[in-house]
Amino acid sequence: MSEQTEQTQSGVVIVGAGMAGVQTAVALRERGWTGPVTLLGAEPHQPYDRPPLSKAVLLGKAEDSAFDVDFEGLGIELRLGVEVTGLRAAERELDTEAGPVPYEVLVLATGAEPLTLPGSEGIPGVHLLRTLDDAARLRPVLAAAPATVVVGAGWIGAEFATAAREAGCEVTVVEAADRVLAGALPAEVAAPMARWYEEAGASLLTGARVASVEAGRVALADGRSLEAGAVVVGIGARPATRWLAGSGVELGPDGSVTADAYLRTSLPGVWAVGDCASFPSARYGERLLVHHWDNALQGPRSVAANILAGEPAQVYDPVPYFWSEQFGRFVQYAGYHGGADELIWRGDPADPAWSVCWLRGGALVAILAVGRPRDLAQARRLIESATPVSPAALSDPSTPVKSATL
Ligand code: FAD
Repeated sequence: MSEQTEQTQSGVVIVGAGMAGVQTAVALRERGWTGPVTLLGAEPHQPYDRPPLSKAVLLGKAEDSAFDVDFEGLGIELRLGVEVTGLRAAERELDTEAGPVPYEVLVLATGAEPLTLPGSEGIPGVHLLRTLDDAARLRPVLAAAPATVVVGAGWIGAEFATAAREAGCEVTVVEAADRVLAGALPAEVAAPMARWYEEAGASLLTGARVASVEAGRVALADGRSLEAGAVVVGIGARPATRWLAGSGVELGPDGSVTADAYLRTSLPGVWAVGDCASFPSARYGERLLVHHWDNALQGPRSVAANILAGEPAQVYDPVPYFWSEQFGRFVQYAGYHGGADELIWRGDPADPAWSVCWLRGGALVAILAVGRPRDLAQARRLIESATPVSPAALSDPSTPVKSATL
């Protein structure tokens, strides 16, 4: 730690008490930050983990998903129910309804907010699934098992449809694109995953645009009308950064805080991490905005290391990773692929377990593994090290991924 840092080890304020905010506070303490750490969160609840919200918490198999962190013991001042409404950089102050909060070092970790379906806000029976309150509202809905329309066949839509089928609801999933997971996977990979919906007894309508929603009914642009005791909208999320307008923090066209390779923002002493921030990836040659849990775990470690060092010390350039549990399958993805990358199948997608790999310049850049966690773990290491691999060996699912190197 530099001398200068020791003198200035005073106030770190973190805005957003989700995974990224909590992990930043914990990482600072673990690495020896002795100054005050204040964590401000808009939600009134004890900070909690989101992935269980579309899984165990939704189905009532778990009451909540609060993080097991001893904030008091770690000397982290946790201020809940405090929404930050503005940032005045010249004064190094934040605005909240409870009054101004000064900072010396600031970490933005406000996550993302779900996109809403235009015209559906406030209509009874229309739900989003982002917060603990959303999940709590949906639990009794599922228990009553109404005919349910899910708008969006992305990761959240698939997980919600899984839970709704398990609860005995009649489920129709409406997707505007021509396939499931259109933003994430190519058509040939998405096709077998679309069959999971039908197998689970959910009806999947692709190329279907919602025209309007009214209580109890969803009208599609092609004239079809769907009965909907409940509607769940899962059409994506955008960085929760509106409150930063006019603050001087640079935002990208997608609304993300455009952090640099060290997760610094355009303002001195202000960092950004998790779902609200994008960062330039030298590994993939583009700026990435990652809305997955592992990014909210790893990013804070870099931010904390850099704050501790008092200078840009640790570059953040991860191999992104996420998982999804849908239709009885454990789906994992690591890396990042583009349309031009070579696609290699490992196994038959009609089987319960298979993987798909993407190669660029002879090295693995991404993998999607369905029920093959070993493939994922081994591939993740090869992606990290950019080791050249043999496409022929890789395409044989009985050859371990780690043995497919050249
Ligand atoms: P968030 O978790 O969104 O936390 C940000 C916090 O900041 C929120 O509590 C918010 O209230 C608060 N906040 C926002 N604005 C302000 C403000 N102005 N002032 C004060 N506080 C503010 N990822 C996976 O990899 N696998 C999964 O299976 C998976 N399942 C998911 C299921 C669901 C239902 C959801 C919603 C997400 C899931 N994710 C999953 C994604 C993962 O949970 C997120 O990437 C992760 O939560 C991001 O953490 P974060 O701290 O950046 O943002």
